[in-house]
Amino acid sequence: MTVNIAIVGAGPAGLYAADALLKVIPESQIDVFEKYPPPYGLIRYGVAPDHYKTRNTSRQFARTLEDDRVGYFGNVDIGSDITFAELKENYNAIILAVGAYNDRELGIPGEKLPGVYGACAFVGWYNGHPEFRDLNPKLDQPGVAVIGIGNVALDVCRVLAKTRNEHANSDISEYALQSIEKAPLEELHMFGRRGPIEAGFTPKELGETRDLERCHALVDSGQLPETVEGEFEGREKGIKEKNLNILKELADRAVENKPISMNFSFYSSPKEILGVDRVEGIRLEKTEVIDGRAVPTGEEFEVPCGAVVTAIGYHTAPISGVTLDGGIIKNSGGRVDKGIYVVGWAKRGPSGTIPTNGPDSRDVVDLIASELESTNKAGREAIKALLEKRNIRRINFEDWQLISEQEFAQAITPRPRERFTRVEDMLAVLEKTA
Ligand code: NAP
Repeated sequence: MTVNIAIVGAGPAGLYAADALLKVIPESQIDVFEKYPPPYGLIRYGVAPDHYKTRNTSRQFARTLEDDRVGYFGNVDIGSDITFAELKENYNAIILAVGAYNDRELGIPGEKLPGVYGACAFVGWYNGHPEFRDLNPKLDQPGVAVIGIGNVALDVCRVLAKTRNEHANSDISEYALQSIEKAPLEELHMFGRRGPIEAGFTPKELGETRDLERCHALVDSGQLPETVEGEFEGREKGIKEKNLNILKELADRAVENKPISMNFSFYSSPKEILGVDRVEGIRLEKTEVIDGRAVPTGEEFEVPCGAVVTAIGYHTAPISGVTLDGGIIKNSGGRVDKGIYVVGWAKRGPSGTIPTNGPDSRDVVDLIASELESTNKAGREAIKALLEKRNIRRINFEDWQLISEQEFAQAITPRPRERFTRVEDMLAVLEKTA
């Protein structure tokens, strides 16, 4: 008997789950749903455009989507085009792989001022996400403040710092590149409420700030400890030590005469975003780290800037009928409810790299295999009929490949690809080839 399984979300966690299902439950028929036409989630819209090679991981997922047992349903929004109840009615199991695509909030005054952007929106903007392509961020002042000292904060600063020449192997959207080129940037600030040892970034990404054409990374040696103290062990300790060595190297270098500086400011907790009609600056409070926690010192300072990007983590968007718990979907080892499962960032929170999702999704698939009930469900044909009745243009994987080929064909040399950023332009490709 065919087992019908729906996966909501075609990012890495969902597609690792699809791949595992094909092996563990070979009689599955799997339908993967995605709100916008393109698959690959975080690989397309989260990974920094200048980390273009990381996007090659999508090739392994393309093989999964090409399998005859897998159906791709791009441009189908679960919750409006098809309801969650309809999925439950038609599938033996549902895997929620919806990620964490909402920005966490700082909860400080001024956060709603024009010129404050969450990393989801800002990264989505330079990556050509249809929802954020019209963000038009206020990059008209010399200063930009980025809150957070993880890899996302580094991505944002690095993408802003790079020249067109440095974006040669990047698939940044042309409109974003033009906007960055025009921006009178001089000061990129990265503010961490804790210290360099607690920072979330990793050595490879930190090392990329060393040799930027027009930007010098500035680190205050007075903020760096001699050695990595604390309860770190093994791989984690190795990462901290490498980070510290790179930061020391950056702090010890002679300051180069470049137009932009990227300032690493540790022990700085945001208190208020300043401005009347838009962002004009940010007020922060100095902290000290005691037992791993940022403790305020009462000493405040202000920094002028025209935009603030918060890169402080993400939470999962609410889904009707599913309970959220601290920014993730409430679950026990991936089980949400009878026949409903969750994988990826929606299961465990926004941490880890793309491959982290592999073993995590496989574990959940093993759990599904152990709990599956052999009820007859209509699956794909029922959903196709509903979509047809509702006049929803589903994008299958072949459609997507045509759109994708066109993105390569319209690349602006020397960059490899120019993305479509509006759904209607993606659909127009299919009308032309029909
Ligand atoms: P992250 O590493 O957890 O960094 C979040 C930062 O926000 C931390 O510095 C955190 O400080 C800070 N923060 C949180 N709440 C705050 C608040 N209220 N006020 C001030 N600061 C606050 O997460 P991320 O950068 O969003 O990245 C998410 C995951 O994706 C990570 O696992 C990351 O490594 C991964 N990623 C990887 C790559 C890559 O491999 N190239 C690229 C991008 C992202 P505290 O530590 O003090 O909470």
